[in-house]
Amino acid sequence: MSNPLLDTSDLPRFDAIEPQHAVPALEELIAAHRQKLAALLDDPNARDFQTLVVPLEEMSHELGRAWSPVSHLQSVLDDPEWRDAYNASLPLMTEYDTELSHDKRLCDAYQAVMDSMPADATPAMRMLVKQELRDFRLSGVALAEEEKARYSEIMQELATLRASFDQNVQDATDSWHFQTSTRSDVEGIPESVLKRASTDAAENGANGWWFNLDYPNYHAVMTHCGARHTREMFYTAWSTRASDQGGHEEWDNSENIEKILSLRHEAARLVGFNSFADYSLATKMAGTVAEVTEFLTELAGKCRKAAQKEIDEVRSIADGPLEAWDVAYYLEKLKQQKFAVSDEELRRYFPFAVVKRGMFSLAEKLYGVSVQEDQGVSAWHDTVHYYDIRDSQGAILGSFYTDLFARNGKRGGAWMDECVVRKNLDGEKKTPVGYLVCNFPPPDADGESHLTHTDVVTLFHEFGHMLHHLLTQVDYPSIAGINGVPWDAVELPSQFMENFAWRYEVLEECSEHCETGAPLPREIFEKLDASRHFGEALSMLRQIEFALFDFRLHAGFDPASGAKVLETLQQVRDEVAVIKYPAYNRLPHSFSHIFAGGYAAGYYSYKWAEVLAADAFGAFEESGIFDVETASRFRREILEIGGSRDFMEAYVAFRGRKPTLDALLRQSGIGKAA
Ligand SMILES: [Zn+2]
Repeated sequence: MSNPLLDTSDLPRFDAIEPQHAVPALEELIAAHRQKLAALLDDPNARDFQTLVVPLEEMSHELGRAWSPVSHLQSVLDDPEWRDAYNASLPLMTEYDTELSHDKRLCDAYQAVMDSMPADATPAMRMLVKQELRDFRLSGVALAEEEKARYSEIMQELATLRASFDQNVQDATDSWHFQTSTRSDVEGIPESVLKRASTDAAENGANGWWFNLDYPNYHAVMTHCGARHTREMFYTAWSTRASDQGGHEEWDNSENIEKILSLRHEAARLVGFNSFADYSLATKMAGTVAEVTEFLTELAGKCRKAAQKEIDEVRSIADGPLEAWDVAYYLEKLKQQKFAVSDEELRRYFPFAVVKRGMFSLAEKLYGVSVQEDQGVSAWHDTVHYYDIRDSQGAILGSFYTDLFARNGKRGGAWMDECVVRKNLDGEKKTPVGYLVCNFPPPDADGESHLTHTDVVTLFHEFGHMLHHLLTQVDYPSIAGINGVPWDAVELPSQFMENFAWRYEVLEECSEHCETGAPLPREIFEKLDASRHFGEALSMLRQIEFALFDFRLHAGFDPASGAKVLETLQQVRDEVAVIKYPAYNRLPHSFSHIFAGGYAAGYYSYKWAEVLAADAFGAFEESGIFDVETASRFRREILEIGGSRDFMEAYVAFRGRKPTLDALLRQSGIGKAA
């Protein structure tokens, strides 16, 4: 086999794969898959799980495995050729994917499998087919011809409207700037931000500082700038972007919002849902519109008193009446006064090697596994390492690459991605493999990277995703690991792991002062812990406000009366907010998450997953955070199941009851005030 990307028998051959391999490999593979699929659909005998679903699972596993290095390498290598190869391959993948999801014969074949499912079929088999049929329904494939045509017209129109929404936000943001040469206008803004602003001024042929309206600038000004008029100016510009208040009619998103909501509603009705909120919930753990609404309202109710207390404290140190553009600034001031711990001080306690050792040993303690490096595996960079996770008998459960340090051209942020998904089909078994990618500071002169505590939390978070991917015991790739897991539960294993990075017993094992070798002192930890929750009720309430607005807007849409966007927002704010918003505030017009991104009627998921993670960790708080029995129950009921079971049922099997808000409120200190 001359194209190394087509060799999917083992790990990707990173020492041999080149950008020019991508397109030919995927073209060849997809062509072969099209033929195999046609043969399956033509064969009337291929209509049960073994003869239809298993070969399809094999195919998608193979394609996923070939695609994985292409998508991975373009994000971690600074190589224009890889970017081009990726951009040329992506359309092949999406086109094939769309083709499959719109294949009526394939949909009918799955239906035939479901109809003839034998009595001894496992729950995983049933769940897999059920999810496939659900996705076919959501893609409109099962509709009659006329409705189907309308459905795909709506989808196309929505894609255009979403792009236009985003473009307006971008244009409105880009058109604004603030230039000043007066020191007092920028008082308090961190030096790094000012430095960039002065470079931008020079580039624009101006003196002093030149600020664009990007998020880092906006955030820095709102949090740190002592000049009230500067904060107010930024706030006004930011909160009126792409709206009727923004002074640029051509970028006003009002009409886009109306159209998007109306088309979403129509599409949801076509495929048999009451509203777009119901449609959104079809792929989520939360069951009903009422359940989500109740969840958000209850959480808001429990936070409000604590948030009021926080805002009163903020008001007590403000120099004048507290306006919307003052809150973040005084909150930060209070936090600095009360709990400041410097990142530089923390870095001395968290050399990367020590953090890694402590984190691996935590996984070993909890799950009875062992994590060992395998140095014989080829990779894409010399700072990349490869580890195996083994069970107590020494058998490999899964493996992962780590690529943890920032370098030029590597995509920013931190993530976990799949390299190989677990499968066990027709006696052929593959253990899962993943990529753990972060952007920590590269090793110093002493050869060690020094992390802040925020970095430590990030590492735990991504490792939580990794354990979810690697510890799965599901045989079918499309519902193994993180696949087929409801969208609002995917962050449970990661946020759950974060909680351990906030426990002194764990940090003690993860820290070692770079000169004295002493672990993190308890006093520093306590300050850190207090600062974690400072202002939490206010920020939680703000997230709830966004979520409730998003959800109500989509659940309550009525074609007869239109979207009622601003009325809904006002209603939500009247119920929830403790901060007074100026009348010109137009949050919806730049709320890209829900109007351009994938969070429509799903913004609540952030809080939902947080509640789950806190409640799951609560079980460990009750039994002792290293309790092996609790950990093995968590592994069995949550980490191993992928998308093979109803997630709420699985959660109840772990916890003995449905999740409650108490743990999150207690852990964040809100419970006490309420
Ligand atoms: Zn995550």
